[in-house]
Amino acid sequence: MGDYLPSKAILGKVMKNSASVMIPPHEMELHDRVATVTMTKLAELLLQTPEALVGRKVVAAIVMTDNNNNLSRVVSLGTGNRCVHGNKITEDGTVLHDSHAEILAKRGFKRYLYALLVHDPLCLLNKGEDEKFRFKPHITFHLYISVAPCGDGALFVPSDGTSGNGCRGDEHNPIFNKPQTQALMRAKQENGEGTVPIMVDEVGQTYDGIVHGGRLRIMSCSDKICMWNVVGLQGALLSQVFQPIYLKSITCGDLFNPGHLSRALCCRIDLKREPLSRSLPPGYRVNHPDFGVPKIQTTRGVEKARSYCMNWTMGDSEPEITDGSTGLTLKSIGKPEGPSRLCKRKLLWYHRSIISDKSTTMKTYKMYKLDADDYNLAKEAFRQRMMEQNYGSWIRMPQEMERFTG
Ligand SMILES: [Zn+2]
Ligand SMILES: [Zn+2]
Repeated sequence: MGDYLPSKAILGKVMKNSASVMIPPHEMELHDRVATVTMTKLAELLLQTPEALVGRKVVAAIVMTDNNNNLSRVVSLGTGNRCVHGNKITEDGTVLHDSHAEILAKRGFKRYLYALLVHDPLCLLNKGEDEKFRFKPHITFHLYISVAPCGDGALFVPSDGTSGNGCRGDEHNPIFNKPQTQALMRAKQENGEGTVPIMVDEVGQTYDGIVHGGRLRIMSCSDKICMWNVVGLQGALLSQVFQPIYLKSITCGDLFNPGHLSRALCCRIDLKREPLSRSLPPGYRVNHPDFGVPKIQTTRGVEKARSYCMNWTMGDSEPEITDGSTGLTLKSIGKPEGPSRLCKRKLLWYHRSIISDKSTTMKTYKMYKLDADDYNLAKEAFRQRMMEQNYGSWIRMPQEMERFTG
């Protein structure tokens, strides 16, 4: 686990003259700060992880920054690069379908929001006139990813265009010089073996089809992050309680290219048409985050043979280890494999226990999602826009998988 020990990942980061000098994170430039707090948290979590499960990983984290004092903290972290095998899917919401690091970090972020609704010791939230919560203006959220997200953001070779150190959200300059391959939506492959394009006339997938050997198709992380830049990070259920929460920045440790990242994660939405923001419900917009690469050394490389994943949310006493190919927690001594704390069923349980009318016991997960009118309008406008631009059609999970109750 040498790559993750503080001695290498944290201490040897900033050099002044020939001597190594530790600069406190709050004095660092934003992308270094986001990377440093993520690497520090990762090192801490790996010390709590059985040695056999530690390896090179794709890492992602949502980092909260208090801009009054430049303090940053990891609120959720995920590692992994797998999707569930088609024959392991279930209808009861207990299985994680997508265990790519970014997706686990985002699911953990929802747990953080639920926890904050119960207890907000630092008074981070305000309630607006619409009765929805929003974070105070000095609180911002940032995404760290150890490598460019799978799909459109990672599909480039050096000759496709120049790279750079980063760009602010209002200075995006997307590279779009190969319309036949760039900007297309893509689906993940089950074994972490890259992504494949989705056709505009792609037919939906069915539950029986997948269970009986059909390939499960899940949208790439570039496509999902692109959608978060329209609908926010809070998801459908929490959109009833929170104003959309957008990423202020994205820090990418490896394969960083702002021209390709900006195309894949935000700018492709409006490449050929009028701004989508004009047709979104109040509070929603197309968000263009600041992009940057840390100067410090971070994790590199991935162990392709392993399907172990890890997740942690602020407040958890230890990381949870799951197997991305089963979508369940690992079997260990005295403990059978079981649902992750990030699975849809658990998130529905948090939702019902914290927010909802407890008497509506028969309401399904899907019904709760359908209640989120503005979120659904924004999501549909985004999907429609992607289709109109011939980037492909969004592949939905089979309906059977959202009919469970809490
Ligand atoms: Zn991915
Ligand atoms: Zn952009």
